[in-house]
Amino acid sequence: MPCETQMERRGAGDVLSDVRRRLEDAGVGHAALEARVLVGAALGMDAADLIARPEHRVPCDREARLEGMIERRLGHEPVSRILGRREFWSLDFEVGPATLDPRPDSETLIEAALEIAEHEDWGAASGNARRRIIADLGTGSGCLLIALSSELPQTLGYGFDLSPEALRMAWRNARAHSVEGRISLVAADWLAATRASFDLIVSNPPYIRTGDLAELEPEVTEHDPTLALDGGEDGLDAYRRIIGEAPGRLAPGGWLVLEIGEGQAAAVRGLMRDAGLQLEGGLTCEVRDLGGRVRCLRARL
Ligand code: GLN
Repeated sequence: MPCETQMERRGAGDVLSDVRRRLEDAGVGHAALEARVLVGAALGMDAADLIARPEHRVPCDREARLEGMIERRLGHEPVSRILGRREFWSLDFEVGPATLDPRPDSETLIEAALEIAEHEDWGAASGNARRRIIADLGTGSGCLLIALSSELPQTLGYGFDLSPEALRMAWRNARAHSVEGRISLVAADWLAATRASFDLIVSNPPYIRTGDLAELEPEVTEHDPTLALDGGEDGLDAYRRIIGEAPGRLAPGGWLVLEIGEGQAAAVRGLMRDAGLQLEGGLTCEVRDLGGRVRCLRARL
């Protein structure tokens, strides 16, 4: 319970262990880590500060703010949503109700795309080299496009999304990372709004089977937007759309890089092949995440 008088103010160390215990009792995974993040955010102390000054007396208003955050966490809201921020590719992103919470798994897609840029020598210094153009389909918070744009300063990028609210958030994130001058954000249904052609198209589309949505943890089903999760009856609806449209929108030799869900590699490879894309264009088609799962597929025109 938050204190009401100066006399009752507790030390930060006691508050921290109390929060950790409450999260553990509720079955929250990584309770110690989450407790440090929430207590740190509520008290305005970083992790080192919390360790160094456990006796720091916590002001009552801060403890009341912390209590509100813990109640939200115990109601299955993820920490990133409580804070409104999430780190991706070591960059800080604003997240909100209209956007998928960026996942560390998706960093595999960034690695796969950067490998292409290196393979094709996009960074080659030449005054009149053509600027490469990237499209991110279903950009959400903009995390993929912004991470790629900040790694590849010689590119231009387009982010497409159905949700204007997500695009507003992506725009704030682009500004926060100083890439807004090279990015355009467009409210559109996949590639339907453009006749441009791209050197690289990336997407982390919705890929959960509709029938499996209810089995996901409440942190996901109650807080990530369904539009960003639901891949239709067999989970492949978005892949059929994207892979159907991409060949017409790729520059000659251009690449398509897609994140996939577990067990979807064979089906999505099949769609890519049927669309006339090359699966072994000098780089492996399948790219694995740190857990050894095929997380991403690459194909080229
Ligand atoms: N591109 C965003 C991400 O990877 C959003 C993806 C989505 O909404 N399915 O986080």
